[in-house]
Amino acid sequence: MDLNFSAEDVAFRDEVRSFIKDSYPASLNGKIDEGEELSKEDFLSWHKVLAKKGWIAPAWPTQYGGTGWTSVQRYIWSEETARADAVRLMPFGLSMVGPVIYTFGTPEQKERFLPGILSGDVWWCQGYSEPGAGSDLANLRTKAERFTGDDGKEYYRVNGQKTWTTMAQHADWGFFLVRTDATVKAQEGISFLLIDMKSPGITVRPIITLGGEHEVNEVWLEDVIVPVDQRIHEENKGWTCAKFLLAHERTGIAGVASSKRGVERIKNIARAELDEGEALLANPFFKRKIAELEVDLSALEFTELRTLAGESSGKGPGPESSLLKIKGTEIQQRITELALEAAGHYGAPYYRGFGEGDNEHPIGPDYSHRTAPTYFNMRKTSIYGGSNEIQRNIIAKMVLGL
Ligand SMILES: Cc1cc2nc3c(=O)[nH]c(=O)nc-3n(C[C@H](O)[C@H](O)[C@H](O)COP(=O)(O)OP(=O)(O)OC[C@H]3O[C@@H](n4cnc5c(N)ncnc54)[C@H](O)[C@@H]3O)c2cc1C
Repeated sequence: MDLNFSAEDVAFRDEVRSFIKDSYPASLNGKIDEGEELSKEDFLSWHKVLAKKGWIAPAWPTQYGGTGWTSVQRYIWSEETARADAVRLMPFGLSMVGPVIYTFGTPEQKERFLPGILSGDVWWCQGYSEPGAGSDLANLRTKAERFTGDDGKEYYRVNGQKTWTTMAQHADWGFFLVRTDATVKAQEGISFLLIDMKSPGITVRPIITLGGEHEVNEVWLEDVIVPVDQRIHEENKGWTCAKFLLAHERTGIAGVASSKRGVERIKNIARAELDEGEALLANPFFKRKIAELEVDLSALEFTELRTLAGESSGKGPGPESSLLKIKGTEIQQRITELALEAAGHYGAPYYRGFGEGDNEHPIGPDYSHRTAPTYFNMRKTSIYGGSNEIQRNIIAKMVLGL
């Protein structure tokens, strides 16, 4: 893969840069930098701008709404959006269920579900994990029993519990792994269902995270009726869809471009003078930690570029995506650790502000205010998408052949 930008690539980069400058919603400016919790409307406002432009799904094949960009153009796109601190798009529709539908779905399913993912009109959530079925996902117990309705059509009756379901409180639809055959090997009795989250029998209950945010939920399914035509792929072939989707999810989790922006942010903090008049960057130990982080990030970037190049030559993301997941998430966590270190005593998890309301006048420099919640929040990255220990097992088996 040629990493020097051609004249066309430079022109493309300029086009992207000016598009973001002109079109990024003003209401979102600074929200990422300040680590603010984003609302559903915040996420969707940028999504809708990109959908209108036709740039919402660069990784999709063009016949389903992809941009047809080269891997270099896709790289430029992620660099430029991170550079502009643009809001990250929700992955559940665009990077997860969308590729499953256009790969394994029927023509009717593609026509029914893909447009809502692209437009942002339908918000999706992922119903994989259950209590007792996280790392050991194939152990899942949510049961779907098939029956013929009074109208002569085929349905499933679904009962069970999902957990850690990210943003299910906003979701219109969910994609669920369910057990359709308990008599065969665990992986061979699973099906992949699309379920309307407004269906009678679904209850979504919040789980509040260590950082104080409502990001994840429990989802209960009690006698939820799902038409059989909302199953993707054949009955009991859901594990194939599940594995395909997880490889896509893990590649996206690497987050190289946004980590680069994170390192820049740490450097800016370290350059600023502290109360005692000296900048943190003068401290050789801190400086060394930043340098090590940058070296690791560059190595990760080249690994991601190799995966992207493979994808554009028709190779889907395979087990190498586990490498990206581990390294990418470790770097994201180190960035938040360095931010906390830079904030020093102002990075305490809870500081009572002074003034009118509790947080009216938070203490310390601006960058320190969200360092503790962000540090806590990012502990999740080495767990979700399949824990990093499990990714190491996959690499040992599938990449190293051990
Ligand atoms: C913030 C967040 C958001 C999430 N969002 C979603 C979502 O939207 N949808 C969804 O379906 N799931 C979601 N998950 C669930 C996530 O995929 C699981 O938490 C993850 O797969 C781990 O499963 P578990 O929590 O059951 O832990 P367990 O499987 O119980 O693992 C506990 C510990 O044991 C280790 N371990 C387990 N088995 C092995 C092994 N064989 N070898 C070595 N170590 C092992 C694990 O690495 C981990 O450290 C989310 C999780 C988090 C934290």
